[in-house]
Amino acid sequence: MKACKNCHLLTEQGKCPRCGSSLSKDWKGYLVIMDYSRSKIAKKMNIDVNGKFALRVR
Ligand SMILES: [Zn+2]
Repeated sequence: MKACKNCHLLTEQGKCPRCGSSLSKDWKGYLVIMDYSRSKIAKKMNIDVNGKFALRVR
């Protein structure tokens, strides 16, 4: 899986399905957002979709 350099979404597609940005293989750690509307972390990271997100992307 690769992480979006812009919004940190993890995906197996060629580019980010959320924002269309390019992806990086160089990422560390991830969190799973099941319900972004109730997640404080999601709010902090400006996440407005459910899914897997990398914590750090280079
Ligand atoms: Zn993205």
